[in-house]
Amino acid sequence: MRTIIALVTTCAALGLGTEAMAERLKIVTTTSDLASIAKAVAGDKADVRGICTGKEDPHMLQAKPSVILQARDADLWIRIGLELEIGWEQPILDGSRNNRIRVGAPGHLDVSESALILDVPQAPITRAMGDVHPMGNPHYWLDPLNGRRIAGAIAERLAQLRPEDAAAFRANAAAFQKALDERMFGVELVKAVGAEALWTKTQDGTLAAFLDEPANKTKAGGWVAALHPLRGRKIVTYHRSWVYFANRFGLTIVGELEPKPGVPPTAAHLAELAAAAKAEGVKLILQEPFYSTKAANQLAAKTGARVVVVANAVGGEPAASDYPALMDLIVQRLSM
Ligand SMILES: [Zn+2]
Repeated sequence: MRTIIALVTTCAALGLGTEAMAERLKIVTTTSDLASIAKAVAGDKADVRGICTGKEDPHMLQAKPSVILQARDADLWIRIGLELEIGWEQPILDGSRNNRIRVGAPGHLDVSESALILDVPQAPITRAMGDVHPMGNPHYWLDPLNGRRIAGAIAERLAQLRPEDAAAFRANAAAFQKALDERMFGVELVKAVGAEALWTKTQDGTLAAFLDEPANKTKAGGWVAALHPLRGRKIVTYHRSWVYFANRFGLTIVGELEPKPGVPPTAAHLAELAAAAKAEGVKLILQEPFYSTKAANQLAAKTGARVVVVANAVGGEPAASDYPALMDLIVQRLSM
């Protein structure tokens, strides 16, 4: 007891009290996935709040007064970008009157700048194309390689905002990335081959053949091993929100239940899609819980395909409690 008192007195005398207990940073993220990754990277040095819960459609959110209040004293705002939050981000930023998190300020981080982006339109966008995102598909968090990159981007921005904790942020990001690597490929394979080499193989299309080699097959684990039997499977999704996941794990998307992004399924489109799905041998229809399953069930009845409903965001289902657990859940549900 005496030692503790002595220590406290010494710290106070040296003026260490305030520095040792620097105030926790306040981070607000637009989505639950970003909140999960930010928590992993910031550790005990920040309070993190995500706006979109994972049970909600991130395209359709409203700017609530309670959220504007949260943004008021935020040190860092993190968004998915690529216009995912176009309907509700600006009113929150404006309403918060917090200059630190305005677009372009150090406290505003758009992690799409660090992500690998697909579906960048090659031709000019017209209204007739539906709710197309003109800078590319914003559903990139379902690629675990992007999960890795998001963690790195958050660590670097936090290091910039609070240089004295830079080492801790970078160590936390590295630990998060290592955990993702091991869940993706299995501990043994990562140890034998190295994570960098394995991620490169997922990008240049050589992973499947590599995993088929007997020596590697026995070492492989994690998500790639679980989904290996599904490689090349043709699937239908509700919205174009599974492109990144399909791309990383070798699934082929034949079409969407939505005739155009953001436009609900129609009878005419479903008839066309059913014909295409039959011709292509689609056995799986994949969608998020916040969309109606009516169209999926109709297509399933016409084609015999299985409907898989699974969260595509942290918090979308109780089991999707954090980012790695979300990926676990999706892989598990698909490989059932
Ligand atoms: Zn979308």
